[in-house]
Amino acid sequence: MRNDTPIYLDYAATTPPAPEVIDAMLPMYAEHWGNPSSAHRRGRTPRAMIDEARDRIAQWIGAAPADIAFTSGGTEADNIAVIGYARAKADRGRHIIICDIEHHAVLDSARYLETQGFEVTRVPAGREGVVSPDAVESAMRDDTILVSIMLANNEIGTLQSMAEIANIAHERNAVLHTDAVQALGWTRLSVDELGVDMMSLSAHKVHGPKGVGALYVRPGVMIEPLVHGGGQEYGRRVGTENGAGIVGFAKAIELLERDIDTAWTRTAAMRDAFESRVMETVPDTHRNGRSDMRLPFISSLAFAGVDAAALVINLDLEGICVSAGSACTSGAVEPSHVIAALGLPPEIAMGSIRFSLGRQTTQEELDRVIEILPALVERNRSNRSK
Ligand code: PLP
Repeated sequence: MRNDTPIYLDYAATTPPAPEVIDAMLPMYAEHWGNPSSAHRRGRTPRAMIDEARDRIAQWIGAAPADIAFTSGGTEADNIAVIGYARAKADRGRHIIICDIEHHAVLDSARYLETQGFEVTRVPAGREGVVSPDAVESAMRDDTILVSIMLANNEIGTLQSMAEIANIAHERNAVLHTDAVQALGWTRLSVDELGVDMMSLSAHKVHGPKGVGALYVRPGVMIEPLVHGGGQEYGRRVGTENGAGIVGFAKAIELLERDIDTAWTRTAAMRDAFESRVMETVPDTHRNGRSDMRLPFISSLAFAGVDAAALVINLDLEGICVSAGSACTSGAVEPSHVIAALGLPPEIAMGSIRFSLGRQTTQEELDRVIEILPALVERNRSNRSK
């Protein structure tokens, strides 16, 4: 019997907003629509609600409310951190360090800086998807002003040794930014324990609304704003605040408290069992990235000899939503930069699929995928060899 509700295994792309998040947001549109900057009564409630949201998010990451600037999402937070900091510090140095599996928001911000006379070192994450702190240390120079290394990768889930990297950056007077967008919903984050000076967050990966995120900025770290025209968010990201989005974001963070101490173990167990069964039932399947020190909900599997883009479509026809680790760039299908950075042979890399589980994922859903995947992979392989 075919169930028409899709099996959603793409939680790393986005998550459904929690009903409580939607309930928290609606009054911001219907009743508390005033401009939070207004001096009159219409502005007071939205201002108070934004302040409360800021307090909650700051508390979640062990920061002070004034260290949080709301943004339009993770992409903008990454741009402000990388470009805004580099511009503010250009007189001290023009070298920055990132890794080669960063999200495009960091990767392309760094590439932009190169057009502005900055130099960028891209530390390789290698076959395991792990940045060696020693490699960061070797890349450090006297003119290095910024190190930006993601806390967790969005395609393969690998986590980086942030505290160690922080020590290395700080010893050489550089500032450390981390993109924590994918890690946010799965572990308690402390900016002090991580040792980071800036941290990017996004609401829609944690059952919050799209189009809202935040950048944590440690006191004393100067940013040149990218957007001009007002004084909101302590001048770091000006423009009338997205009050509904911000309140929804804070509600999503509040809801994390419900299962933050159990979600990791539960989800990792489901994911690990899923991976083992897929590897048992589908010959020539490889796991991308190392198996330990990674987020619990992402499984990136490469099916040798498979056209991943076609497999995504075939799975979708069966009601299963996943992502391919490849994309069509200028007419040719190529592995994503993350999968390419792992250095796998092309016939393996091209068959990479990301399954990402969420809090709503059930064992029945995973069983269904395991039931139909072997035949789909076999068909895909035989179509390709024709
Ligand atoms: N950074 C990482 C690691 C991500 O996975 C994403 C989203 O895909 C982003 C940044 C961008 O966040 P947003 O969609 O909120 O702009």
